[in-house]
Amino acid sequence: MKALRRLTVRAALPAALAPLGEIVANLRWSWHADSLDLLESIDPELWAECNGDPARLLGGVSTERLAALAKDRKFLRRLQDVSDDLRDYLEQPRWYQRQQELEAAKPANEASSLPSSVAYFSPEFGIAEVLPQYSGGLGILAGDHLKAASDLGAPIIGVGLLYRAGYFSQSLSREGWQQERYPSLDPQGLPLTPLRDVAGNLARVLLELPDQRALHAQIWLASVGRVPLLLLDSDVEENDAAARGVTDRLYGGGPEHRLLQELLLGVGGVRALRVYCSITGHPEPEVFHSNEGHAGFLGIERISELSSGPAKLSFAEALTAVRAGTVFTTHTPVPAGIDRFDRDLVAAHLGKVPGVPVAEVLALGAEDDPTKFNMAHMGLRLGQRANGVAQLHGRVSRSMFNNLWPGFDADEVPITSITNGVHAPTWMAREFLDLAEQAIGSEALATGGGWAAIDQVEDTELWSTKRELRARLVGEIRRRIRQSGVERGFSGVELAWTATAFDPDVLTIGFARRVPSYKRLTLMLRDPARLKRLLTDPDRPVQIVVAGKSHPADDGGKELIAQLVRFTDDPEVRGRIAFLPDYDIGMARYLYWGSDVWLNNPLRPLEACGTSGMKAALNGGLNLSIKDGWWDEWCEDGKNGWEIPSADDSLTGTTDDHRDAVEAAAMYDLIEHQVSQRFYSRDARGIPTQWIAMVRYTLKSLGPKVLATRMVQDYIRKLYAPAARSAAVLVADDFAAAKDLAAWKSWVAGAWKDVAVRHVESHVEGDPTLGGFLQLRAEVALSGLKSSDVQVQALYGPVDADNRLTSVQIVPLTMADERDHTGFFTGDVPLKKAGPFGYTVRVLPHNDLLANPAETGLVAAATQG
Ligand SMILES: *Cc1c(COP(=O)(O)O)cnc(C)c1O
Repeated sequence: MKALRRLTVRAALPAALAPLGEIVANLRWSWHADSLDLLESIDPELWAECNGDPARLLGGVSTERLAALAKDRKFLRRLQDVSDDLRDYLEQPRWYQRQQELEAAKPANEASSLPSSVAYFSPEFGIAEVLPQYSGGLGILAGDHLKAASDLGAPIIGVGLLYRAGYFSQSLSREGWQQERYPSLDPQGLPLTPLRDVAGNLARVLLELPDQRALHAQIWLASVGRVPLLLLDSDVEENDAAARGVTDRLYGGGPEHRLLQELLLGVGGVRALRVYCSITGHPEPEVFHSNEGHAGFLGIERISELSSGPAKLSFAEALTAVRAGTVFTTHTPVPAGIDRFDRDLVAAHLGKVPGVPVAEVLALGAEDDPTKFNMAHMGLRLGQRANGVAQLHGRVSRSMFNNLWPGFDADEVPITSITNGVHAPTWMAREFLDLAEQAIGSEALATGGGWAAIDQVEDTELWSTKRELRARLVGEIRRRIRQSGVERGFSGVELAWTATAFDPDVLTIGFARRVPSYKRLTLMLRDPARLKRLLTDPDRPVQIVVAGKSHPADDGGKELIAQLVRFTDDPEVRGRIAFLPDYDIGMARYLYWGSDVWLNNPLRPLEACGTSGMKAALNGGLNLSIKDGWWDEWCEDGKNGWEIPSADDSLTGTTDDHRDAVEAAAMYDLIEHQVSQRFYSRDARGIPTQWIAMVRYTLKSLGPKVLATRMVQDYIRKLYAPAARSAAVLVADDFAAAKDLAAWKSWVAGAWKDVAVRHVESHVEGDPTLGGFLQLRAEVALSGLKSSDVQVQALYGPVDADNRLTSVQIVPLTMADERDHTGFFTGDVPLKKAGPFGYTVRVLPHNDLLANPAETGLVAAATQG
């Protein structure tokens, strides 16, 4: 019989064990080895049964065992130790506090304003397997961002939704077709506490919906080390059935469902933050970081606060103030990854946010298709600062969104990039972390220094550690393929082969990721006979472990999984290639730890960054990958891995099919002639010294770069601190600067149509020769603007056959004279390169409060004639 409802009863801990409650209540245990050891020692068998979930462990452990532990002096000493360590971690100053001290010691005009609070919004967070609130890369990244912020002491607050079924768990039918299950989660059994006000009532937020309906949500609090994470949950009694279901699952349902989720995340998220700060006294965020378009409505709510609240700003003024403190990060160049809603649907729902004219909201999400509302476009228009997540992705994003800044070249589009990173303590195997910590020191490891010391670790030690981890992965593969076989309906006898599948001494390739088509799960099957030969090579065999979930609505992805599973069912190869169902944090770790090679073959440039290869690298895995995302930037072919040549640059007009063929052939060649050669060539001690040299170089070259602490430090320096400064300037004195800037922008925009470069004269002494100068004088129609409201620039460089400037350089021209609404600007252009050379002149609005000269989108360029 099925239960009507479920709840989780928590054990009452004996007083001596009270600190256990605190350790379990903070998710820091999930990446802290001593905490994990302590929890496991409570009841090792039960710990394994509960898949390492401390809440379930404490719910299930016997009272006798607890009573015994309460008297066990050795256990109590360890408990005290872990508890003290947690307290230190939470309370002692860390990197960020030291930066604040350094800044405070500087003269005011040189100090950067480190924010005292930053809100990080994301539709998913992958913190630990016990809190399955993620589907893939975006969620894992958000989780790593919070953990690294915590390690650094950076004052971030996470904001997201609590999905009652999370993402689905995956199993396979007999034929290899993906089956989805949505286990229902009971928040009481999760590492969450409900937020209550001082009177002890549950804190709530409320959103008005069309047709007199309302959406209520309660706020759950997860502690991610020092970082609070607020999760909104619509499954509360005040809601009607439809409203209760808003946070049912991640990325499920139709457009209206998605829109309601995003309204709750953005608008509700800001309201939840206000409640949290007022209850706890936590400083109000100065910077709001919107990840992907999904959370973008946070900007609308903040505009609403300023226009309908006591500040009484106009929409334009409020927008100006909000933009200054908003950072927008785009996480994908795949069009299907960008949310677009029908404008009417957005209009109906946003009409309920007070003080925000619907027409203005719609304009923020405008795109080419006049019936659509584009969340990424809104994100870019609401954030004064924006970035992609790897250098290549930054470039791709600048082209992709170039139409929002017409008149500018793609490389001037104000979208920078910060390359993603991964949280080392979460993703490194204990054994590898210990090796690295011994050589490098834990403090240096956390902040990125000292990786050269990995040279002190002996070859034999690196190699035996890797073998141990590979053997652990093999054990896990056997366990999982057997379990999956049982679920698919095979008998024990039919599954006997699984006990000896895979081999702890065979070159192991890992491939795990979501299954959208651009990631090309089945590229390896392009030439099945060739793959079979690689797997079954008698001297230099290869084994491949694959995992990944397809979006439930994507039958194409499910078909790819089925194809792969059919291939792995072949008795000739099944001992060397396996598909493991239910890819999640818990499983992925074994793959990162144990794989010798991490394979990634996306259609370049559709992988925004990719982080799984970084996790493999931190465990001494070598990447074998198309140069896309992060690998485009940090690949040193033959030194820290291998580049699978991508056909996209060399073959213009090629079909995807042709491209697959070329890239698959290159991949097989590399595995056969480079990767396995190197893995299997051994010295007298049986050690592959050249391989180990690459492992070492991987750790040294990539170790410091791939860390999430490096990423968070980059965000702080390049985006959060400048955003905090801009916001502080605009907010000061009752928003005086925001009002001025909004008025200025509107005035400049009105005048701009008559701003023009009327005439440009150039003069060279003698013939133009290398090392000489071109003297320019430009006559600019100012249309009532002051010369200080504009910047006049000369752009110059070599020109191609069409007179297009290539590798453009810019020099500002200075005002020489101003009369009759006309400015005369002069400057020298250096002739630095021989050959065809060109220049032009343009005018841009200028204001110290703009973060980027392209920001307003206004430009007037000199025209021929
Ligand atoms: C790292 C990770 C991802 C993201 O990996 P990509 O390389 O970006 O595809 C997704 N899911 C899990 C469980 C991960 O550990």
